[in-house]
Amino acid sequence: MTETTMSSVQPNQSGPYDLVIRGGRLVDPETGRDGVGDVAIRDGRIVAIGTVEPGAARSIDARGLVVAPGFIDLHAHGQSVAADRMQAFDGVTTSLELEAGTLPVSAWYDNQAGKGRVLNYGTAANWVFARIAAMIGTEPEPELGFMGRSSHDKRWVDNVASPAEIDEIIARLAEGLDEGGIGIGILNAYAPGAGVKELSEVASLAARYDVPTYTHVAYASNVDPRSSIEAYTRLIGYAGSTGAHMHICHFNSTSLQDVERAAKLVKKAQDQGLKVTVEAYPYGTGSTVLGAAFFADPAFPERTGSGYGAVEMVDTGRSFTNREEMLAAQAQDPGSLVLWHFLDVEANQRHRDLLDVSILYPGGAIASDAMPWSLADGSFYDGDAWPLPANASSHPRSSGTFTRFLRQWVRERQALSLIDGLAKCTLIPARILEESTPALRTKGRLQVGADADIVVFDYASLTDKATFKQMNQAAEGMRHVLVNGEPVISGGELITAARPGRPIRRPQKAKG
Ligand SMILES: [Zn+2]
Repeated sequence: MTETTMSSVQPNQSGPYDLVIRGGRLVDPETGRDGVGDVAIRDGRIVAIGTVEPGAARSIDARGLVVAPGFIDLHAHGQSVAADRMQAFDGVTTSLELEAGTLPVSAWYDNQAGKGRVLNYGTAANWVFARIAAMIGTEPEPELGFMGRSSHDKRWVDNVASPAEIDEIIARLAEGLDEGGIGIGILNAYAPGAGVKELSEVASLAARYDVPTYTHVAYASNVDPRSSIEAYTRLIGYAGSTGAHMHICHFNSTSLQDVERAAKLVKKAQDQGLKVTVEAYPYGTGSTVLGAAFFADPAFPERTGSGYGAVEMVDTGRSFTNREEMLAAQAQDPGSLVLWHFLDVEANQRHRDLLDVSILYPGGAIASDAMPWSLADGSFYDGDAWPLPANASSHPRSSGTFTRFLRQWVRERQALSLIDGLAKCTLIPARILEESTPALRTKGRLQVGADADIVVFDYASLTDKATFKQMNQAAEGMRHVLVNGEPVISGGELITAARPGRPIRRPQKAKG
């Protein structure tokens, strides 16, 4: 989109409009707009901004409220109606599964369309799924649980792929991109045995298609060998040697206590023109499956600076006292969700400072790593009850990432201005994607011509509510949330019938 269509303040266009948001504090990070005005919407797009004459079918009184672009979450594993609704209260209007992704990509988009999604949705092609298919011969199913179900044969976790296997992995990923996948998700930590030759081929494929990769780096450790720094240095090497855009997922959790050094390395790479980007979530606690390879490492406590007591089962609340206990549980139920308190941000100021480095990294996005909602028996909840079932659990970040960031870092601590804080939730994630996925060029902006994905919130009372004991608490302060011009939250209440989410997908044709 050009400057003239998106960045200039437009005079009134003639009505009638579908909806006018009146008298709010309009904040648009790209143009720097931060002032009171109206926003007029027609056919799912913003068609006028400024002072809009009466004549709309509906209007929202936004006096005293902030009006901003809807938040774009680059890292959302929930991908269900329930997950969408919890994220809507967190201000999210576009929820993307990029770190993991899926295969087959077309079947995934078909499934989502069948569910009727509340938020805009999209996926990357999943490198681990391609590896499972090539190395143990299991045909991928387009859902996150496929990885856990494939952990009976660990060759895809531990082994270097043969040349023939690499060829198949690349072919399957290319197929996922040809089907419209918006990049390649690289869960390297879940298959740490993968070789550099293979990953350099994956990065070259991404460079050929001009799409980003989204990496959970191979190692999270403060100690060499296999340190976080080794993993980032490798990732930066892929960017430099192949030209690929390498996006680092949850910079907070994989950097552990070496985040200052990691941030210096990434900054230097960016200064040299390499396409390396980062995202982080505002918690010192991660969430993953118990079968994750790094938990089994005998040196886990020394390498991470956290003991087995920091690993907590989501369904039972049980944490471990030693390695044997954890290995026994891991063997029994590798797919069950666990919390890992890798930084103690409640009690330790040094750990809070470390979290700041990743959250406040200049040009970095906020992204939730939102997990699916699961029931007491460990199954994923895929129903549409509202509120969610009382026993539904996940991680607080699945319902509070963006509101927590805006409350704690922006409003309370004033570490960033509101417009700069909102940029990390809107414009920055849009820019990470928009070169390769044109649909993002009209998102993350509050401008004429942009999609009407809009949040209207009470900044003074905006807050996350979810805790590790009660994850199932929707955030507060979002008064109105529009997705493609259609309200999904109105007057602070969920509209249960609303399903305005649309697929975010690349044009389904190979570039080269
Ligand atoms: Zn991850």
